[in-house]
Amino acid sequence: MAQKHPEVVIVGAGPAGMMLAYQLVSHGVQVRVLEHHPDFKREFRGELMQRSVIEQLERAGILRILLERGLVLPHVERRMFVGLKRRVQIPAPVEIGAVVSQPGFLGLLHELCSTFPNYRLDFGTTVLEAIQREERVVALKTRQAGAEGKVEGDLFIICNGRNSALRKSCGLETELFPSTADALWLRFDFTDAPDALPDSVDVHMFGKGVVTVLQPSSAKRLHIAYSAPGDLGRLRKNLPELRSALLPTLGAGVRRLVDARLGPNTESQVLKIIVDRVNSWHAPGVLFLGDAAHTMSPSGGQGLNVAIRDTFVAANHLIPRLQQEGPVDAALLQRIQDERQPEIAVLQAAQTRAAQMVMKPAPVLHIMFSMLSLAMPLMARKFRAGHGIAPAEPKYLKAVEPARLSQAPEA
Ligand SMILES: Cc1cc2nc3c(=O)[nH]c(=O)nc-3n(C[C@H](O)[C@H](O)[C@H](O)COP(=O)(O)OP(=O)(O)OC[C@H]3O[C@@H](n4cnc5c(N)ncnc54)[C@H](O)[C@@H]3O)c2cc1C
Repeated sequence: MAQKHPEVVIVGAGPAGMMLAYQLVSHGVQVRVLEHHPDFKREFRGELMQRSVIEQLERAGILRILLERGLVLPHVERRMFVGLKRRVQIPAPVEIGAVVSQPGFLGLLHELCSTFPNYRLDFGTTVLEAIQREERVVALKTRQAGAEGKVEGDLFIICNGRNSALRKSCGLETELFPSTADALWLRFDFTDAPDALPDSVDVHMFGKGVVTVLQPSSAKRLHIAYSAPGDLGRLRKNLPELRSALLPTLGAGVRRLVDARLGPNTESQVLKIIVDRVNSWHAPGVLFLGDAAHTMSPSGGQGLNVAIRDTFVAANHLIPRLQQEGPVDAALLQRIQDERQPEIAVLQAAQTRAAQMVMKPAPVLHIMFSMLSLAMPLMARKFRAGHGIAPAEPKYLKAVEPARLSQAPEA
């Protein structure tokens, strides 16, 4: 392919943007990534990767490097409880994945991409809006170091996550689905008590919308997502109230350690829980993927995984077309949407059902899960099949060439 100006411009260097960039760049496509942040340091993000994605990273040799760098907690099970102690199951296969440091993962993809001359990443560049000519997106208006600019390209792939203002700017309509209460995300340093970290991701449902999720990280931190109806922004600032709401939702061992660490400097963030989807994932010259196309709720730990699966399908369709310098037209972009939307729709519907379920009082949750466990043997086939949609298979996820990586310029 002729290496003129950047052909594909990707907005957002999150999992969707970087995973797509690696597949395109390693197959000769000219790519320029625009990222708002100055680096990849972003720990308040999904880190639990599902087996289906892990297997692909394993096959490409990416997981091995992440393991060597100490950036992965392998064999992590996602467990569900009603209250603190009663372990329950939902009709889906037992999911054993891995917790992967997102800054480490994105940094590695950037390193890999940087070994190719047809790659460029601009940190600290915010995309403000799409510029259209004759109803086709032909450029993006950007801001970098306080100065406005314009980035041109042949195809724009929008991977800039939830609340993407570019949806409206590209004339796309969004459908919003019901979701749960918001979540307060907290992070605690457990480097002095690593043995106290759970070796699983534990979801505790207490009824009436109160849910606590505990997740270890490879950096020996404990992430806690506390979800409850009400104003979590206010709760975050009121330490005594936060203590009395959060601590009873933790098991005794972790509770003591969190109690000792919880203070005004605790890292925290309120996450607005959104489940939405754009009706069309594309417009002339532009394609949306990941959270920018379909924001997932944290329920079931799906967002990161489906964003990566989106890129497998997009790359499968785009790479052969771009290599032949053929047109990336509406029909091709629609095929990507058609292949991805069924899984997203099923998962978002399940997230909506889960949101309704956790609003029930605790005794009702106990009854519901007792009935579910009785029905589980009858649902065995469906249970094993999960949502029944085969995981996306990447055709262009290139195996890492270690020699190439060792010659990579400093990322
Ligand atoms: C606190 C939290 C916890 C989560 N937990 C889980 C979990 O356990 N499991 C799971 O699977 N999912 C989880 N998720 C969801 C998961 O993180 C997302 O679904 C996933 O990161 C989506 O990837 P993405 O690449 O589409 O978007 P993002 O990861 O959001 O990446 C978007 C990128 O675009 C950049 N950007 C945004 N706007 C612009 C702009 N205008 N110009 C340039 N760049 C821009 C951002 O800086 C960011 O780097 C969680 C999300 C949050 C916020």
